[in-house]
Amino acid sequence: MIKIAIDGPSGSGKSTLAKALSKKLGYIYVDTGALYRTIGLYMLQNGVALTDKAEIVRRLPEITLSMFHDENGSQHVTLNGVDVGDTIRTSAVSAAASAVSAIPEVRAFLLDTQRNMAKEHNVIMDGRDIGTVIFPDADVKIFLIAGNEARAIRRHAELIEKGENITLEQVLSDMERRDVNDRTRKEAPAIPASDAVMLDNSSFAPEQTLAAALEIIKSKLNKA
Ligand code: C5P
Repeated sequence: MIKIAIDGPSGSGKSTLAKALSKKLGYIYVDTGALYRTIGLYMLQNGVALTDKAEIVRRLPEITLSMFHDENGSQHVTLNGVDVGDTIRTSAVSAAASAVSAIPEVRAFLLDTQRNMAKEHNVIMDGRDIGTVIFPDADVKIFLIAGNEARAIRRHAELIEKGENITLEQVLSDMERRDVNDRTRKEAPAIPASDAVMLDNSSFAPEQTLAAALEIIKSKLNKA
């Protein structure tokens, strides 16, 4: 099966690119951030302090998580049998996901769910450690980046559209805090794999990012 890894910081356009690639290539799109968000959501719903690592780890066995794709190719995550839908897309859940994602036991808990997705399907998987930890043997690894301002503007627009009342400054500072958390954690830090291709899309429209990614994919797969 072919595995394409798209890593990069929040707001770099990973999911927009991965969705477009999935349509174009007919591969399944797997958004791994949704898994960390779902664990974060569970802890928030149950009043677990995000600073209490031992308690977070102790509660993990209470969670049954599954991931499936509907007939339109859209991904769904269920938490103890209930589809989490858009409840994982709030800024509170973003912060919770960032906190739980630094805990090695949480990452280990989600490992098989991610790897199993590529057993039966060609996948485009986006996240932070896909090219380094989940699939070090991925056929193509793209590390997507964009300037902080550009990323914050995109993320802010998404949150406003979802009805959240948040300023651009708040989004920018939350995002920078999460980026530092993600980059500097000991376990699976969000850094590019040595064989990843860096793609800066600060000044690109989504279709330009797609075209650039398709070029990278074509050249890597033709070499294989
Ligand atoms: O990509 P998204 O913003 O949905 O991810 C939410 C959080 O989950 C990130 O800030 C990061 O802390 C964590 N994450 C991760 N590894 C992944 C995907 C997401 O640590 N593969």
